[in-house]
Amino acid sequence: MEDLQEVLEGIAEHVAPLCHDGAVASYIPSLGEVSPEKFGICVAMADGEVYGAGDWKEQFSIQSISKVFSLALVMSYDYDSIWRRVHREPSGTPFNSMIQLEADHGIPRNPFINAGALVVTDRLLTLTGDAAASIRGLLRLESGNPAVDIDTVVAASEADHGHRNASMAHLLASYGNLENPVDDVLEAYFRQCALSMSCEDLAKASLFLARHGVAAGGTPFLSPNQSKRVNAVMLTCGTYDAAGEFAYRVGLPGKSGVGGGIVAIVPGRCAITVWGPSLGPNGNSVAGIAALDEFTAKTGWSIF
Ligand code: GLN
Repeated sequence: MEDLQEVLEGIAEHVAPLCHDGAVASYIPSLGEVSPEKFGICVAMADGEVYGAGDWKEQFSIQSISKVFSLALVMSYDYDSIWRRVHREPSGTPFNSMIQLEADHGIPRNPFINAGALVVTDRLLTLTGDAAASIRGLLRLESGNPAVDIDTVVAASEADHGHRNASMAHLLASYGNLENPVDDVLEAYFRQCALSMSCEDLAKASLFLARHGVAAGGTPFLSPNQSKRVNAVMLTCGTYDAAGEFAYRVGLPGKSGVGGGIVAIVPGRCAITVWGPSLGPNGNSVAGIAALDEFTAKTGWSIF
């Protein structure tokens, strides 16, 4: 295998022509202002070494990638009681779909579609009093970057155009599957999605999932079994109705966000982050998936 740094630089070069395939998310207006020509990739190794190429130090909106950290936090507080309120099956529907929520009597298919994430955030709000701040605290600690913060412009932009998430939250409440007032849950959810991070921050912050639950300071944050479970749900549900295609092409647990970021985990070895704002039809970064595909093909670092 080539030197890892050369692999990343080669990938950044190869995926550059894909930056205009798909489109930058614009249903949250402030996300639509980001240039599609950005691309970053970072690999954080379990032993602490970090490699990066392209715009890997530039911040972007992590959006649904935050759902990994809210789930991990809830599991760290009360092991697995959350699974009484949300299933863990792939949905096969878009991330913001509500069709199954009524059919399943208010129990979302999984924690990584919006309906499921709202339930997890609701639980975290009960457990901590400020869900978004607790996720931010975890991300600051694990990334080693105390400047990680919420982009309040993005949060407000999403809140102003959040009718779909609001209707989902009300539907959940109608089934008794929210513990807190709908508006509080929505505010917390929009704030956590608006966390702004670089590929470098995010790869470092996700490393506990590559270290079987061990946090940056060397202490257990999740048990090895919990870490296995979060990775498993990422593999089956992390990229929504494209999770099968993602597993086929990349072969790793992964979680995407409509800001164009994707985190992927090689258990025992490393965390990889890619960022390319232009999204395919399922809301996943086109260049990001191509980059991860090439990464696992070149390194052989897939779980299969
Ligand atoms: N905040 C976005 C939303 O709720 C997150 C979606 C995503 O990243 N897939 O619509």
